[in-house]
Amino acid sequence: MAVAELTIDLKALCDNWQALSSHSQSDTGAVVKADAYGLGLAKVAPALAAAGARQFFVAACEEGVQLRHILGSGPEIFVFSGHMDGDTDLITQANLTPLLNSIDQMLRHVEALPGHSFGLQLDTGMNRLGMEDAEWRALRDIALAQRPALVMSHLACADATPDEPEFAMNARQLQSFVDMTDEIDAPRSLAATGGIFLGEDYHFDLTRPGIGMYGGMPYANARPVVTLSVPVIQTRDVLPGETVGYSNTWTAQKPTRVATIAAGYADGLIRAMGGDAWLWAGDTRCKVLGRISMDMIGVDVSDLDEDPTALELLNDRQPVDMLADWAGTIGYEILTSMGARYTRRYLPA
Ligand SMILES: *Cc1c(COP(=O)(O)O)cnc(C)c1O
Repeated sequence: MAVAELTIDLKALCDNWQALSSHSQSDTGAVVKADAYGLGLAKVAPALAAAGARQFFVAACEEGVQLRHILGSGPEIFVFSGHMDGDTDLITQANLTPLLNSIDQMLRHVEALPGHSFGLQLDTGMNRLGMEDAEWRALRDIALAQRPALVMSHLACADATPDEPEFAMNARQLQSFVDMTDEIDAPRSLAATGGIFLGEDYHFDLTRPGIGMYGGMPYANARPVVTLSVPVIQTRDVLPGETVGYSNTWTAQKPTRVATIAAGYADGLIRAMGGDAWLWAGDTRCKVLGRISMDMIGVDVSDLDEDPTALELLNDRQPVDMLADWAGTIGYEILTSMGARYTRRYLPA
């Protein structure tokens, strides 16, 4: 078998959701867009529903339809992209709640599906999705009269630390959100994972964690959820002066035992992390040698007493954010890029 095995710990996932939930008095939803951040919607969503999640969020109606098949009726499914041209049938069929982003979407929704549930997305400064202040003021009374299921906005810098200049954006967005939604009846939501840790003022009626449930920053105390074990295809001895991999970027300085493992950048193991990355064989850390290839990586296994049959790239000691740092990216990208060809194994909740 020359495919890596990705083990997803549904218990750790649900524990993370519970822990995030206990950080606020409000309801806690679950963001499961992009196939539950690459971990498998069909397993992740039912586990979260069993743990108590009642509000789910996806990016597109197509994902919502898939999720409705998985969860059955009951949980509320919100769609961040709102009601796009061509979405009407999907929204009805799967009983989705689009988060309307503009006057155009609002008109489309009330014309096509009068009385069907919807939420509203407001822009408080991120300039990505949502109605801006002027648009909202023009529409506010009409929209509120239709009783939206949720009024939400999204923070651009919730993962910043207080010493970073962009951190101040959080308070500005909070103020805008309060100004825009003061005295409305509808339930409100502002915080994703990062926002949950900014304190009570940011929680409103419903929080929307994603990455924290999956074991990523900015939830520093998250339990790691994924383990990635990569089989060794072949092991060889390399003499001083010999090179390993494409473009000869690594040259042996001493006799080295090199294992070639079966995963590469086609599996989302970003080539840029090459020089800095490590793998684990039990308690021993083994360095990546040379370039990461499409389907293979060379690893120094000289310190091991025996040739390994597999090495771990992700585990409790080496969470997604460590790989992200090596690659100059974020844990979200590591998770959502993880290989379609991995064998996925689930530990029960
Ligand atoms: C992805 C997303 C979330 C979840 O964010 P995390 O940082 O993963 O917790 C919440 N709200 C919106 C609008 C999103 O796009």
